[in-house]
Amino acid sequence: MKDSFGREIDYLRLSVTDRCNLRCVYCMGEEGVEWKPHCEMLSFEELERLCFLFSELGIKKIKITGGEPLVKKGVVPFIARVRHIPGITDVTLTTNGVLLEYYLDELAEAGVSSVNVSLDSLDRRTFQRLSGRDEFDRVYGAIQAAVRKNFRVKINAVLLRGLNDAGIEDFALFARDNEVSVRFIELMPLGTVSAYEMVPTGEVLEKISRVIKGLTPVSEPQGNGPAVYYAAPDMKGKIAFISAMSSCFCATCTRLRLDSLGRLKPCLSSGLSRDLKALVRGGADNGALKEAIRETARLKPHAHIFADRTNAALRDTAMSKIGG
Ligand code: SAM
Ligand code: SF4
Repeated sequence: MKDSFGREIDYLRLSVTDRCNLRCVYCMGEEGVEWKPHCEMLSFEELERLCFLFSELGIKKIKITGGEPLVKKGVVPFIARVRHIPGITDVTLTTNGVLLEYYLDELAEAGVSSVNVSLDSLDRRTFQRLSGRDEFDRVYGAIQAAVRKNFRVKINAVLLRGLNDAGIEDFALFARDNEVSVRFIELMPLGTVSAYEMVPTGEVLEKISRVIKGLTPVSEPQGNGPAVYYAAPDMKGKIAFISAMSSCFCATCTRLRLDSLGRLKPCLSSGLSRDLKALVRGGADNGALKEAIRETARLKPHAHIFADRTNAALRDTAMSKIGG
């Protein structure tokens, strides 16, 4: 399946819930979001049917996300079933890590070998201030356990100026001493983040270069996404940057997003979506569903419009529903 700019769409981010057990200030905030009733979210059976159709259209890699995917009962058996769909080569998970350690063995049995864990600070108090909960020990413990169990671990850190950017060097040293990739994500202007200032990649790289000598870009691809990786001779792990704001990687974007309410979105920054739940529950056959998916892929814009402050879709887009 190709979009109208010739990009081969092979990657789906699948949000299985809008619920979460943390309250990150730039995502849900302490007040949380208005949770939709469970019946408004697609069931695992409905999602599995869609995943079959996505794979027939050329989707090969699926990232399970949320809200927090691990708070949804039955998610790991669902992942195991999706992993066995013909044509799906890769199913990975993005989690805040709070419940991760408990599920590690089950995830390994389900065929998951790579996890993305969000961790915005290595300092317990800063972590609590940013995530709204005192769960640092559990998240940190889960990361260590995942490394011990040979998962490929990527840590995602969103930097907010004045809140956690003093910890950039600590993250760099953590990546030097542990077999993990620490990925710095530029804050995107979604939902109600206007109170926070992003920290651009150039600035982060400069700070890290002062504590890690000989950092050079890694040429082999390290994943499915737009992250640019760096390594140095004395590092066990890697550093990476997802520079959604300071550089545009849209030319190589091959993804679609299915949000927790069953809406298929062609781009994070776009207000366009197709309501697959309405089609599924309205009795659409597989042919009609596949056509709706193809049509949505064709709606993918050439590039994101994060810079357009008048774009109402950005304000109305909650990352907790789309899943990052
Ligand atoms: N709860 C899981 C987690 O935190 O990993 C999965 C969902 S979360 C929405 C996915 C990713 O989106 C997290 O790494 C989070 O830090 C990131 N995120 C949320 N809001 C963001 C924003 N406004 N800009 C950049 N990244 C954001
Ligand atoms: Fe929850 Fe993830 Fe959003 Fe934090 S970023 S509030 S962990 S969904």
